[in-house]
Amino acid sequence: RLVTYIDEAGRRVTTESAYLTPDVLKRPNLKVAIFSQVTKIIFDTTGGKKKAVGVEFARKKNGPRYRVRVKKEVVVAAGAIHSPHILLLSGIGPKDELDKHNIPLVHELPGVGKHLQDHPVVNTRISVKPGHSIQYIAATKGLALFKMIGAFVKWGLTGGGPMTTNVTEVAAFIRSDDPKLFSKDKYDIKDVTSAPGAPDLELILVPIGFTAHGHGPVPSGELITMGAILLRPESKGAVTLKSADPFEAPIIDPHYLESPNDVAILVRGLKALIKIAKTEPFASNVNQNSNPLLDHDLGSLSDDDLEKEVRKRVETLYHPTSTCRMAPLEEEGVVNPDLKVYGLENVRVVDASIFPSIVAGHTAAPTIAIGEKAADIIKAALAAAV
Ligand SMILES: Cc1cc2nc3c(=O)[nH]c(=O)nc-3n(C[C@H](O)[C@H](O)[C@H](O)COP(=O)(O)OP(=O)(O)OC[C@H]3O[C@@H](n4cnc5c(N)ncnc54)[C@H](O)[C@@H]3O)c2cc1C
Repeated sequence: RLVTYIDEAGRRVTTESAYLTPDVLKRPNLKVAIFSQVTKIIFDTTGGKKKAVGVEFARKKNGPRYRVRVKKEVVVAAGAIHSPHILLLSGIGPKDELDKHNIPLVHELPGVGKHLQDHPVVNTRISVKPGHSIQYIAATKGLALFKMIGAFVKWGLTGGGPMTTNVTEVAAFIRSDDPKLFSKDKYDIKDVTSAPGAPDLELILVPIGFTAHGHGPVPSGELITMGAILLRPESKGAVTLKSADPFEAPIIDPHYLESPNDVAILVRGLKALIKIAKTEPFASNVNQNSNPLLDHDLGSLSDDDLEKEVRKRVETLYHPTSTCRMAPLEEEGVVNPDLKVYGLENVRVVDASIFPSIVAGHTAAPTIAIGEKAADIIKAALAAAV
């Protein structure tokens, strides 16, 4: 059974709802500043030291800057896009990049923002027999809208029903070099998995048809989406500064599919989806439909054409990692095994940016594990210092 993140009351659980409970929020040593954006960490660099002494934040671009004084240490936890952004704005990163934006160098650290990884996904959409799709919960008009309102009312009254969907309701983890699943084709797949038997592909099924993250067109009717996710991409991107303005989002260049091996694995992923849709008992529940917005004819494409489809369809599964990775300094690491930023006295990074490389599974749970581990490390360090 797929692990759900919907609680007994039918609500999506988040780290906020799980950790920032009313009891925790009452703690006298915790202040949560909402609608506040960290603009930089302030360092004392006198006498050659590099010690964080404050954090600057603001509510809006031209609003006042506030400062919080640091008694012990700064924990940066802004995620794989914004943790490197904050470090760069604070003068921690590749010297040439900081020079380009006239940001005074505090500490040169070439790995900040590099090694960006993500899970690219390639989605397909097919039409299914009634009862296998909850397409109506995305309805904005017609009869389906009434069904959607009915589902919403049911959720309000009982906390149950289709509104509590996990979205991804089926998942399978496979290897693209499994001879039982794939017949010979032009690809000689390189093993990029973490161990024998470990997967490099995840196949998912969503009981709603969608394109372009839900913003693109889909035909009417009962649809599902089947996706192939590349779990161990070789391609690596980067997060760099667009400007020195903290309110200007950084540049995210994911470099998806730069590695031909990544493309080959995703082609195998598409082949697996096509095979599943043509295999019983699934096949009897699929309609024939030649609508060009659907993918019933994907099975007739050559490997070269499937490659084109992979390149055309690739999108993010929203799992960025590794932009402040835990690795040796000479391998462009940013934090050490205690999550401390190399070269700084008292700054740690604690989020998905520290993954040495992306995990072959979804990223939320391992990120929470990083947070738990960091809490233990920090408590032990503080106890030892007393
Ligand atoms: C739409 C979507 C769906 C996802 N679904 C799943 C899923 O089903 N399963 C799964 O395992 N993973 C999922 N993920 C991925 C998962 O959410 C992330 O891997 C995880 O949240 C990473 O945690 P993090 O702490 O590194 O970063 P985040 O969760 O992004 O936390 C960083 C926090 O820092 C804040 N922040 C950023 N910059 C600043 C700043 N300058 N000042 C102050 N605060 C700042 C942000 O507002 C945010 O609250 C999904 C992601 C997205 C976007």
